[in-house]
Amino acid sequence: MKATYKRSWAEPYKIKMVELLKMSTKPQRLKAIREAGYNTFLLRSDDVYIDLLTDSGTSAMSDRQWAGLMLGDEAYAGSKNYYHLEAAVQQYYGYKYLIPTHQGRGAENILSKILIKPGDVVPGNMYFTTTRLHQELAGGTFADIIIDEAHDPLNEHPFKGNVDLNKLDAIVQKYGAEKIPYVSIATNVNMAGGQPISMQNLKELHAYTRKHGIRVIHDMTRVVENAYFIQKREDGYEKKSIREIVKEICSCTDGATMSAKKDALVNIGGFMATNEWEVFEEARNLVVVYEGLHTYGGLAGRDMEAIAIGIAESVDDHHQHARVGQVEYLGHTMESYGIPIVKPIGGHGVFVDARAFLPHLSQDEFPAQTLAAELYIDSGVRTMERGIVSAGRDAQGRNYYPKLELVRFTIPRRVYTQAHMDVIAESTAAVYARRKRIKGLKMVYEPKYLRFFQARFERL
Ligand SMILES: *Cc1c(COP(=O)(O)O)cnc(C)c1O
Repeated sequence: MKATYKRSWAEPYKIKMVELLKMSTKPQRLKAIREAGYNTFLLRSDDVYIDLLTDSGTSAMSDRQWAGLMLGDEAYAGSKNYYHLEAAVQQYYGYKYLIPTHQGRGAENILSKILIKPGDVVPGNMYFTTTRLHQELAGGTFADIIIDEAHDPLNEHPFKGNVDLNKLDAIVQKYGAEKIPYVSIATNVNMAGGQPISMQNLKELHAYTRKHGIRVIHDMTRVVENAYFIQKREDGYEKKSIREIVKEICSCTDGATMSAKKDALVNIGGFMATNEWEVFEEARNLVVVYEGLHTYGGLAGRDMEAIAIGIAESVDDHHQHARVGQVEYLGHTMESYGIPIVKPIGGHGVFVDARAFLPHLSQDEFPAQTLAAELYIDSGVRTMERGIVSAGRDAQGRNYYPKLELVRFTIPRRVYTQAHMDVIAESTAAVYARRKRIKGLKMVYEPKYLRFFQARFERL
């Protein structure tokens, strides 16, 4: 018999420095989670073993990025690092004008204030927490136009981030194009489980919006992971580089907001970009009010240098293959234990279906919040809720009841090893084995905005 040799997704880097972790006992973890109100956001990171709370700002920077920090030009105005970042945004993404901000939501605030008028409607491929809140604070209403498949955790559609153009057309017919300042398009949709939009769908959307004189604004936080999936799944793209695909995605849109804390491999930073001079002019003016002068936007010069280098590293094919390869490894290992996960496996994390995991809990007993707390107690692995707590309340104060009730296992970029992935899957399997005995939670404190960050719970 001829042997076939499997080739792994190995990392295109080696480890130069390590960060030691504190190992804890179960009684210590029970105490810590009780004190944190059963909200993993309120745990001290010192009490966490493997931290999968988010992939935001948690990447390991490369030696080149750390060297870039030393090249920080901390001039108040006109820092050379600003010009490096501007050149990177133009070269790799193709947008003309750049406004740096302290992180993604700073860009969302400025963009929403400029483009949205009270009474406007902003269609988008599923909401994101801060994005929708800024749209609402500017007087707009968000309308979900993602395809129905995105709301079904078991549906294996390869592009669950796609826009349903019929849903968009219905909104345009109902409100008129003049009430729609832009269509808000996220690449590799976070809230759908890290699911991509196809190039074909983007091109159809671009053609439709051109016809109606509506902009497309790109939430490009995970654009490179989206490009990876296009390369792997879409006809005609298997031979194109991720770098080429990223630029092609951006060319279908008119402007962008970016949290550089994700794909761009830094611990802090973001920006707004636009191809329209008038929008740039206004943004350059507003950024002074909310962030800082338009050549630093709330960032140190060294931060802008690290982003510029991170952008270039992020579009490397080998990097992205290892990045998503590790996430897929975790997902497949969990599946081998029978754990219900969202399919296809996403780009930045594995999303466990808490409704299927804890079917005996109603949504008002917070199944995903409960599961995240139980996992922490089992092994010190920190995950987060993406369900009814994250969805929050509408303008009338009514709870949103999202179809998806998920626990997000988000993998930081270039941080953990394959053995860490094994520990995470084994711990989830241990909780799964005793799932029938798990009771839900009740909310005892609810903040007004983005409640999932600070809400507190007690065991039922
Ligand atoms: C993180 C994120 C944001 C907000 O960015 P911050 O840097 O956290 O302010 C916006 N959109 C998406 C899709 C994100 O993942």
